[in-house]
Amino acid sequence: MADKRDYYEVLGVQRNASKDEMKKAYRRLARQYHPDVNKDDNSSERFKEINEAYEVLSDDDKRAAYDRFGHAGVQNGGAGFSGFDAAGFGGFADIFEEFFGGGLGGRRQRRGPRRGADLRYDLTISFEEAVFGIEKDIEITRAEICHGCNGSGSEPGTAPERCTTCNGSGEVRRVQQSILGSFVNVATCPNCQGTGEVITTPCKVCHGRKQVQRTRTIKVKIPAGVDNDTQIRLTGEGGPGVHGGPPGNLYVVIQVKRHEFFQRRGDDIFLDLQINVAQAALGDEVTVPTIDGEEHLTIPAGTQAGAVFKLRGKGVPRLDRSGRGSHIGRGDEHVIIQVAIPKNLTDEQKRLFKELSGTLGKAVVPQQRGFFDQLKETLGDVFGL
Ligand SMILES: [Zn+2]
Ligand SMILES: [Zn+2]
Repeated sequence: MADKRDYYEVLGVQRNASKDEMKKAYRRLARQYHPDVNKDDNSSERFKEINEAYEVLSDDDKRAAYDRFGHAGVQNGGAGFSGFDAAGFGGFADIFEEFFGGGLGGRRQRRGPRRGADLRYDLTISFEEAVFGIEKDIEITRAEICHGCNGSGSEPGTAPERCTTCNGSGEVRRVQQSILGSFVNVATCPNCQGTGEVITTPCKVCHGRKQVQRTRTIKVKIPAGVDNDTQIRLTGEGGPGVHGGPPGNLYVVIQVKRHEFFQRRGDDIFLDLQINVAQAALGDEVTVPTIDGEEHLTIPAGTQAGAVFKLRGKGVPRLDRSGRGSHIGRGDEHVIIQVAIPKNLTDEQKRLFKELSGTLGKAVVPQQRGFFDQLKETLGDVFGL
């Protein structure tokens, strides 16, 4: 502890150095003394010392404590470096990048086969199409492997030549000298972008780009029962693979238009049906629309506003989420009764209502709380009550 060097001295900066100056000094020194690069016996000690100094001086609180009390003020701060851990140290990763030009794994990946990009297509369909399913043609413009050169980029009959800059290795090594020794800087070859080859006679179709834009019409089979945001995957219809990799996928994302009077909630369909006072009081036989066509419905005498009648199996086919477009039954249609109170009565109607009124009496009955609350609970988020 007694022979610890001053942190500012270690980084070679003034006591009033800015954060930026400190960072620059640190990067320069860390690069110089990194044990992987500098094989000098003392380099790892120096490297630790540099990191310790930077860890303290780059932190405002620790720097203030160090300025006031010296090493004693930051004893704990420095202790962590006895077990220096590359993975846990923030500054290490980008410095590593600078040394090795993207890292060794990165370069291998650049040359190896890579899967093509996934594409997305948003498709709006009608309510009925979503319920019953449909086959649609969609038109997409996407990159494809050039048909003129089969993706090589070279005119047929010619072959790319080995890159003379990197000798076909795809990377260039530069030996850098410093006072403390030399280290090798490895980077992707700028002449061939790491492929190791240079196209001398570019393909006339793609001009050496290996890919072309093409517009395709693709059939999409939309299974019955899809809903908003359902994704249909078309395997292999995405962007082209690189270096012999497989193509990506095309995802068709469904949006469903609103229906004039049907509302959907999961696999069930809801319909508001307006009847008149007489139909509600006396009952009636009516026809109601369903997604399959007109359906017979019996309104019993004394039907209240808000009553719900269920038409079994008249909902949306239930898509088996685990399978592929197969179905497990259908949802139901729920008919919600609205009772219309007549407004513009004829004289004859007024007379009849007055006559009726005389038989019904004048008593009013406070309604038990809960009728509309219950209705709101079950249907509120569908109808926004
Ligand atoms: Zn081509
Ligand atoms: Zn090259």
